[in-house]
Amino acid sequence: GKTLAAGLEKTRGGFMSRLNALFGGERPVDDGVLADLEEVLFTADIGVKTATRLLETARERVRKKELSDPAKLKAALREEIARIVSLDGRLDAGEELAIGAQRPFVVMVVGVNGAGKTTTIGKLAAKVQARGHSVLLGAGDTFRAAAGEQLEIWAERVGAPVVRGKEGSDPASVCFEAAKKGAEGGVDVVICDTAGRLHTKAPLMEELKKVKRVIDKAVPGAPHEVLLVLDATNGQNAIAQARQFHEALGVTGIVLTKLDGTAKGGVVIGICDELGLPVRYVGVGEKVADLRPFSPREFVEALFA
Ligand code: GDP
Repeated sequence: GKTLAAGLEKTRGGFMSRLNALFGGERPVDDGVLADLEEVLFTADIGVKTATRLLETARERVRKKELSDPAKLKAALREEIARIVSLDGRLDAGEELAIGAQRPFVVMVVGVNGAGKTTTIGKLAAKVQARGHSVLLGAGDTFRAAAGEQLEIWAERVGAPVVRGKEGSDPASVCFEAAKKGAEGGVDVVICDTAGRLHTKAPLMEELKKVKRVIDKAVPGAPHEVLLVLDATNGQNAIAQARQFHEALGVTGIVLTKLDGTAKGGVVIGICDELGLPVRYVGVGEKVADLRPFSPREFVEALFA
């Protein structure tokens, strides 16, 4: 599988190369440099709020004469970004899915269609099994006929059982069955796929809330994790999406997919800053090994390399 650094190659060639060009010269840090910095930050897909905050921090320190040369400005930005993506230093080396003592440990995976939910669940199932846990998958994305089939292909590949409803059946009932079957069968981890779009006119968030409530009925206290899968190529729209899902469902962690296909990797910074949620994994390709644990330290090192 690809490394996180390899997955960030396009992002490094994007806004980071423009930042590094600013830092590379001998030019003292003056209003001109700050204006250039502003331009780069506001077009870097990190979100307006985070761009503003980074810029204000830099301005303030220049005003205090703490940042006289470009190397110091670079170090200051790096430090600030490291602070943001580690959630104030809480997750220095990152934090994979933390499988608690509950059995089954139930993970509900949400996200809009095409974000990479099904693929991520397949990859995640392999990871969880490699950690020595038995896995059962719930094919709760009943909107797309292909989603269930795709999940079954992944399930076969990793050798995990899958609970599938009939096409067009209620996603909540499929997830209920999966959680219940997991409990009865002594399975360690149940991972439930969910719909990213609906057959009915019911709003997606209301439907997903229902799925969450119903999982709790099958296994009290579940789901223990609500993982939100976001497509990095959406850039700043992913931040808005994350807010919407988080408000409705109480997301506990983020998986950012397709980092390999985009220069918009700066979105990681915006998501962490605006939502304070941990990025647990990033997708850096389509293969099973291409789901990488997100390490804030490694991320910052790769960006500023
Ligand atoms: P879903 O609708 O959310 O279940 O999305 P899928 O899992 O079907 O994924 C949509 C497409 O994105 C598929 O072609 C996947 O192979 C692709 N995909 C998912 N994750 C990644 C990733 O990290 N990198 C790349 N390059 N492609 C990915």
